[in-house]
Amino acid sequence: MRTFALLGLVCLAAPALAAGETQVAVNGPAANVAPHSAAARALLEPKLKLGGAPSGTAPRVALTFDACMGQADARILSTLVDERIPATLFVTARWLRNNADAIAILRAHPDLFDIENHGENHIPAVDVPVKIYGIPAAGSSAAVEREVAAGAAAVTAAGFSSPRWFRGATAKYDESAIHQIRQMGYKIAGYSLNGDGGSLLGAVMTERKIAGARDGDVVIAHINQPTHEAGAGVVRGLMALKRKGTVFVKLSEVDGEGDAGTTR
Ligand SMILES: [Zn+2]
Repeated sequence: MRTFALLGLVCLAAPALAAGETQVAVNGPAANVAPHSAAARALLEPKLKLGGAPSGTAPRVALTFDACMGQADARILSTLVDERIPATLFVTARWLRNNADAIAILRAHPDLFDIENHGENHIPAVDVPVKIYGIPAAGSSAAVEREVAAGAAAVTAAGFSSPRWFRGATAKYDESAIHQIRQMGYKIAGYSLNGDGGSLLGAVMTERKIAGARDGDVVIAHINQPTHEAGAGVVRGLMALKRKGTVFVKLSEVDGEGDAGTTR
């Protein structure tokens, strides 16, 4: 149980390595390490932005929420429904197994929610054996394929449309895994604004970050941590954006432009 509780906290957290873990390069060249080793593989954390709104129109923002495992955050879900704010949710097979009530709400509002693929078991889609925030990565291309394919199968089995987007646990990949996932037919969902720091930020900071979203931003936050303060900040941030006249879009409605070959 302790391991599961820990994993639930590190969906997308501030970089921190536990003692003795392999150091991997994030967003940087791996020039000073031996080739062919796991540590030589640079990890990428792709960005995703929307095309800008035509001048004179309201700013557009895509809200994306990860449901890594655990429960559903009813504070956020009910706000999205009550305020009619559309969003894209990235869910794992593991989360889907335990949240029938939330699934029913999502299925009742297909106009508001796109359900996309966050993998089967919340294992980072990296095809070499490294740990990211302490989570062991898939470690091989076969394991990456399993994580992606079984995650997609769980989405459709729960009654949603076939996913078109994938976001792996920790939102980090290596280049070959990105290529592999694209070959499987998925765009990879980076983000441009980390709204809740892996659900670990306080309410005030989370509110401030989300309320600061600008035209073209793709916001990432979590909808699976109902006991965390961050969720209250998410709700207040969403309401602030709405008051400013922000137009909320789902990823399926827009041409997201990702770097590192993630969308084209
Ligand atoms: Zn996650």
